[in-house]
Amino acid sequence: MSNLEGEPGEMGAWLTNNKDIIGIALALLGLVVTAYTVLIARTAQRRDAFMRIHEVLLQPEIQEGRRLLFQIQSDDDVPKRDSTSYQMINRSLAMYDTLGHYIRRGDVDRRRAVDVWHHSLRDITAPAEIFIHARESSHRSGWHAWPWLRWLLAEASSYRSKEGCCVSTSAPQGRNGGGSTPAGTARTGEHNVE
Ligand SMILES: [Zn+2]
Repeated sequence: MSNLEGEPGEMGAWLTNNKDIIGIALALLGLVVTAYTVLIARTAQRRDAFMRIHEVLLQPEIQEGRRLLFQIQSDDDVPKRDSTSYQMINRSLAMYDTLGHYIRRGDVDRRRAVDVWHHSLRDITAPAEIFIHARESSHRSGWHAWPWLRWLLAEASSYRSKEGCCVSTSAPQGRNGGGSTPAGTARTGEHNVE
């Protein structure tokens, strides 16, 4: 019979002998729990950020900007800079640029955003390139408009969804209006979205 007061027992002895290891293990467990909690919060933040900008992109005035953009087939079709049409197109493209910025910063998940928007982005690529070129031409300095929009268009161009919506292996490449494609709009070689 063991003496309960004098002998700690096998479990007690094991705990005493391994208290350092147990302390380290508990600390590591705490780190894992903290990291997991941060990860869950970050995922929720990115989802919420995407939903907010997604809703903005679906607003009627932004959709109207896209509709007006589709009417551009050459430099001559770009509305005058002080027109309402120009401003609406400008705003819709600026929102895509913002989406690209959020993705590049990691504030919005790239796969989620490109999966939802890749066909719309491909559809606007040709007129957007013409509009961007016209916008840049109106500036005297060597200014590249909307770098994140350019990046986003390139991402959409090379993206292939697993949902079966991408029926062709050749993405519709835009008519470039006689070589007006800005250099930055070329494919980036980043094909790792899949
Ligand atoms: Zn698709």
